[in-house]
Amino acid sequence: MENQHETLFTGFDFYDCDMHFSDKQKALRQEVRDFVDIEVLPKINPYWERAEFPWEIARKMVDLPIIGGVLFEHGAASLDFVEMGLVMYELGKGDGSISTFYGVHSGLAMGSIGLLGDEEQKARWLPAMVKLEKIGAFALTEPDVGSNAAQVKTRARKDGDGYILNGAKRWIGNASIADVLIIWARDETSGDFGGYVIENPKDTEGVAIKDIWGKIGKRAVLNADIKLDEVYVPAENKLTHVNRFRDMARVLGLGRYGVAWEAAGVAAGAFELALKYSKEREQFGKPIAGFQLIQHKLVEMATEVTLMQTLCLQLSHLLNSGRISEGTLSMAKYNNARKARYVTQLARECLGGNGIVIDNHIARLMLDAEIIYTYEGTNEVNLLLVGRELTGLNAFV
Ligand SMILES: Cc1cc2nc3c(=O)[nH]c(=O)nc-3n(C[C@H](O)[C@H](O)[C@H](O)COP(=O)(O)OP(=O)(O)OC[C@H]3O[C@@H](n4cnc5c(N)ncnc54)[C@H](O)[C@@H]3O)c2cc1C
Repeated sequence: MENQHETLFTGFDFYDCDMHFSDKQKALRQEVRDFVDIEVLPKINPYWERAEFPWEIARKMVDLPIIGGVLFEHGAASLDFVEMGLVMYELGKGDGSISTFYGVHSGLAMGSIGLLGDEEQKARWLPAMVKLEKIGAFALTEPDVGSNAAQVKTRARKDGDGYILNGAKRWIGNASIADVLIIWARDETSGDFGGYVIENPKDTEGVAIKDIWGKIGKRAVLNADIKLDEVYVPAENKLTHVNRFRDMARVLGLGRYGVAWEAAGVAAGAFELALKYSKEREQFGKPIAGFQLIQHKLVEMATEVTLMQTLCLQLSHLLNSGRISEGTLSMAKYNNARKARYVTQLARECLGGNGIVIDNHIARLMLDAEIIYTYEGTNEVNLLLVGRELTGLNAFV
């Protein structure tokens, strides 16, 4: 399949990060690149414009050996952390809605079950999720609780052989298409933090899910408001290995890792498109790439993308060798999310008027970068996590 189709991208790699990747890692990356070239780029823009979820693209992801990410049981992809990063980079480069659909389903939802569920729970949900027969969602954020996520107000009350949930959630990706919806809540009596799995939420009494309209970025993935009114969840649907917020934070940490790579991919995609355009577009009788001011933008972009790539690469080695910290994960998210914003805006400038229509893809990537800046911990929150690790002092409150 390799090189038998058109590609918009060049695989920019100025510092030869490739020398660190095994043949297996490169082969997986190529599979994802081919998927992006063939399935995503030619089809995504109308979905993005209509704010419609692209099932025809999402369903085909099941053919890629990536669902379940670094999980290794029940048919999950068993990726190493470099592979996981490369997948998010390539998907992000193609389209932020697709990378978010994947990140929420495979990372946050399957990751919560894989890392925090018991054997019976994993066996119950993961096999169908690996095949995309069941779609997952992860509901932590609430209308009144965003950055202070540990203080969720949603409550679980013990009731016979199960629990009753009451509360509200906001911004929940995949919620309106989810079959497996994980609600994070605190126990009304003990205050313990817990993950409660609602199966078939659309058909569950007391659950109301309403998509949020008017988003300016990642428009092709759906985010919803959820209301929970006396919702019954059987005891066996409470994730067994989580009692404290800290238990679940492992899942968020891995999410941040994926998002750091995703941001690098979004930036690289925009840069590669801007470089190509600048070499082809002529003004004043020569390619605009020959003007110093355009070269300044191109070099700024190339430098930032290279720094993001090398940071991600080293982060993946830290993770593979188990030497990761909250601060190192947050620093990568903090750096790459704000740089993705910067790079995509420079790229859009290089295209002049053509930069603001989605046909050229850059406008879409630029607006997707806005979301990356805010989710998986806002950049301010990630900054404070790094600051806390560096100083030992908590500047959150
Ligand atoms: C498109 C999209 C998809 C999402 N998907 C999901 C999902 O699938 N599941 C889920 O649970 N959540 C999801 N989220 C929610 C996301 O994680 C939150 O938006 C994020 O945590 C910020 O919360 P907030 O929007 O309530 O902002 P707030 O917490 O209200 O923050 C507002 C501003 O105040 C700043 N701020 C807050 N506290 C401090 C502080 N102590 N010091 C300095 N500044 C501070 C913030 O950085 C920000 O700039 C998604 C969000 C978006 C936009």
